[in-house]
Amino acid sequence: MGNRPWLPAVTGPPRRLVQALRLAGPATRAQLVELTGLSRATVSGYVAELVERGLVTPADPSGHLPTGGRPASLVQLTRVAGVVVGIDIGRTHVRVAVADLAHEVIGEHVASVPVVDLGADAVLDTVAAQVRAELDRVGATTDDVVGIVAGLPTPVSGAAGALDGTVVKSNILPNWSGTVPAAELRERLGLPVMVDNDANLGALAESRWGAGVGSRSTVYLKLATGIGGALVLDGALLRGVSGTAGEIGHVSLDPDGDLCRCGNRGCLELKAGGGALLRAVRTAAPHLADLRALVDAAVDGDQACRRLVADAGTSVGVVLGGLVNTLNPDRIVIGGELGTAGDLLVDPMRRALAQSAIPSAVEGLDVVPGSLGGRAEVLGAVAAALSEPDRFAG
Ligand SMILES: [Zn+2]
Repeated sequence: MGNRPWLPAVTGPPRRLVQALRLAGPATRAQLVELTGLSRATVSGYVAELVERGLVTPADPSGHLPTGGRPASLVQLTRVAGVVVGIDIGRTHVRVAVADLAHEVIGEHVASVPVVDLGADAVLDTVAAQVRAELDRVGATTDDVVGIVAGLPTPVSGAAGALDGTVVKSNILPNWSGTVPAAELRERLGLPVMVDNDANLGALAESRWGAGVGSRSTVYLKLATGIGGALVLDGALLRGVSGTAGEIGHVSLDPDGDLCRCGNRGCLELKAGGGALLRAVRTAAPHLADLRALVDAAVDGDQACRRLVADAGTSVGVVLGGLVNTLNPDRIVIGGELGTAGDLLVDPMRRALAQSAIPSAVEGLDVVPGSLGGRAEVLGAVAAALSEPDRFAG
């Protein structure tokens, strides 16, 4: 980003090493040889040079002990190398996390913000203030930031981590349609900011640090008020031409069904989205204020809520069948608030999937709840910021 004149630029092969460490987190010299294609002697020489410059330090091996043998000698980037910022702008909250380049979150704060009701200007003012406050809390400034990514609960055009992505005509954030949040944040923070869709970021986080670890081909579903989806293949997001790959919430189950906010009829979201479940439960349990309360009631044994959650699982499973036949993934990770219903949701989903997809495609497939909960999106923003070294190079 070029905001750190006191730090001499790292160029050439040592820079490859810095980028590999930024992407991988703490790593052994052997791993760095594999990641950079440099020889072992070259890696050792450059690591020594970077240690001397204060950019790299031996990592604490506790927690990284291999079974048997002596502890692997890990190295990691220091705070001198910078920090990254992840931002999750939800419908009713803004969450900001600051992480170091050793992949540790060193500061995180979530604030209630009525994002849907406020205009983009007011929300982005709040976001910028929150970023500065969180940086301050961990003893950093915007000069230390080497990557910053923000997630929005709505499609963003050119969603390939666009620096200039425009919020497309949005029924979720009507006050945001046509705005360019990345440019607005850049103006407020003086840093290039990438903006992406929240389901894409949740998918990235679960696949890197959560329930998708070890999977080669992950389908991620965010089951919340709406239904979002994303695909991660070999560690990278598959976005599609206009950024909507994996959006199964708007697959139509009934061409004569109710009209959906997307303009089509009978979409899955109208049957299994949190908004639909809340409308459906109103007669049986009018006291339930939101999706969280509905899921809690189901977990506590409320029969009507259990039935709604199970039926939602079945509907999602039927639609997933088509996606499983098409992509043949090895894992499906269910995130979002509805995902916290666990097996109440996932068991019927598995049964429906078994009846709607090719048996051999279902055989090697795990369907699991997400493990990162409400932090999935902000951690995905951190992961995206760590993955984009070239974009943020000074
Ligand atoms: Zn729709």
